[in-house]
Amino acid sequence: MDFQLTEEQKLVRDMARDFARNELLPRARKHDAEGKIDPEVFAMLSELGLWGLTIGEEYGGAGMGNLELSLVLEEINAACASTGVTVSVHNSLLGAPIKRFGTPEQMQKWLPGLATGATIGCYCLTEPNAGSDAAAIVTSAKRSGDGWKLDGTKVWVTNGGIAKLAIVYARTNPDVSKAKGISAFLVPLDTPGVKIGKTEKKTGIRGSSTTEIIFDGVELPADALLGEENKGFMIAMDTLDGGRIGIASQAIGIGRACLDASIRYAKEREQFGRPIGEFQAIQWKLADMSTRLDAARLLVHRAALIRDAGERVSEAAAKAKLFASQACNYAADECLQIHGGAGYTDDFEVERLFRDARITEIYEGATDIQRIVIARSLMA
Ligand SMILES: Cc1cc2nc3c(=O)[nH]c(=O)nc-3n(C[C@H](O)[C@H](O)[C@H](O)COP(=O)(O)OP(=O)(O)OC[C@H]3O[C@@H](n4cnc5c(N)ncnc54)[C@H](O)[C@@H]3O)c2cc1C
Repeated sequence: MDFQLTEEQKLVRDMARDFARNELLPRARKHDAEGKIDPEVFAMLSELGLWGLTIGEEYGGAGMGNLELSLVLEEINAACASTGVTVSVHNSLLGAPIKRFGTPEQMQKWLPGLATGATIGCYCLTEPNAGSDAAAIVTSAKRSGDGWKLDGTKVWVTNGGIAKLAIVYARTNPDVSKAKGISAFLVPLDTPGVKIGKTEKKTGIRGSSTTEIIFDGVELPADALLGEENKGFMIAMDTLDGGRIGIASQAIGIGRACLDASIRYAKEREQFGRPIGEFQAIQWKLADMSTRLDAARLLVHRAALIRDAGERVSEAAAKAKLFASQACNYAADECLQIHGGAGYTDDFEVERLFRDARITEIYEGATDIQRIVIARSLMA
């Protein structure tokens, strides 16, 4: 494994870092308070080509790989995790499966809009009674004329309130065991019968949109089916392999922001006549935070390179997400502790970072589920 980034990768990372520091960081608190991302941020992301990083150049994307996406996501999330998850879901959970499983016609129809951000995407798998046990979904797609009729309710949809296109997983064969009767559909959200339901009020990543989406007798054409009929669960899991690399990158970004804030505060805050950063107890916290985040980054970059090489990445992606999300929460917890009482108010950035960090251990497969994926792979 080459530990050096190429000149092009450094350029992409530095471009994302400048954008994040200059444009996102000053807005992060506002995004959190208002529960939405500034419209001009969407335009800037389009200008920089960050909606279509891994979409091929022939469709207007940047034609880059998962490593470049990871570098960009770390930078964005170090400034604003709400923007980070919005970009991660769009790239990894919608653009990627269309690229990997779409027909040439589906790619031509959807990828150019996704690449520019004219069409924002979302991923609809989770249901009220199907979270970790995603194969238990009951949303159904039944044959209707040449096409399909979709009925059901999806919950916890990131980008639900801003997306124009969803990938929706639905049961197409109720007579076979859970995972074998599921198909994936591409559903424009302006189709009659689609309703955006409740918007979630979240602990963190408050600027990102998270909603329920209801599909009530939604008629879909035959070409809405992505991949093969009844093979949708495989698409859902393959997509999450990529998505987990994105969320692990988010975790490193948030964790890095915690480390930077801790170092700044440890140099400024004086107790017992000296900066608290001179106490060894504080220095050891900083050393452990930094070491865990560096180790997490190596796992994440390894997973990205494996995916880019076209090899099976489930175990590596699960390890990356498991470790990075825990490193992130460790960093957030220690950062708050280093800030003492001040960290427990919204005077400092750590209060938002602490809330944002928590989600990285829950979505795209909770921590326990990553362990199940890893153990299954080891025992296979
Ligand atoms: C902010 C946010 C955004 C989200 N965005 C999306 C999205 O865009 N699209 C989408 O489809 N979903 C999305 N989700 C859903 C998310 O993926 C689920 O919340 C997650 O998979 C966990 O499911 P659950 O919440 O139902 O928890 P549950 O499955 O009810 O789990 C509860 C607890 O039990 C543990 N547990 C469950 N099963 C086992 C087991 N077999 N062994 C050991 N422990 C177990 C879990 O680890 C967890 O700690 C989002 C969720 C949130 C909170």
